[in-house]
Amino acid sequence: MIPLSAAAASSICQSCGACCATYRVSFYWAEAPERGIPDAMVEPLTPWHACLRGTNDARPRCAALTGQVGVHVACGIYAQRASPCRDVEVGDERCRRARARHGLPPLADAFAVPVLR
Ligand code: SF4
Ligand code: SF4
Repeated sequence: MIPLSAAAASSICQSCGACCATYRVSFYWAEAPERGIPDAMVEPLTPWHACLRGTNDARPRCAALTGQVGVHVACGIYAQRASPCRDVEVGDERCRRARARHGLPPLADAFAVPVLR
């Protein structure tokens, strides 16, 4: 994979948001107060785990996500976002699957990244 600068990755994600509307974003409950994630954005899952509100629904969509997936989106709690949000990398397998679920092309195709043969 061709490494992207943080600014380039952020720009790509602002026109996507697919992973924020695909996966359950769960974490050890104490992460929420430690990061300052607002209570209104957190749902309890088990005595030890919580998730971002909306991501445990049948059609997941994080409550912090605004905008239209695949067009323009923003994260309302970007500075406080949970560890699973930080783990997804532009172009990795979770990114690819999330984009496919929303009918978006893999990034290598979308951005015409040259493939060495
Ligand atoms: S699916 Fe990939 S490109 Fe889209 S927001 Fe998530 S990490 Fe960014
Ligand atoms: S907190 Fe932000 S980055 Fe994490 S799933 Fe929600 S909208 Fe996406």
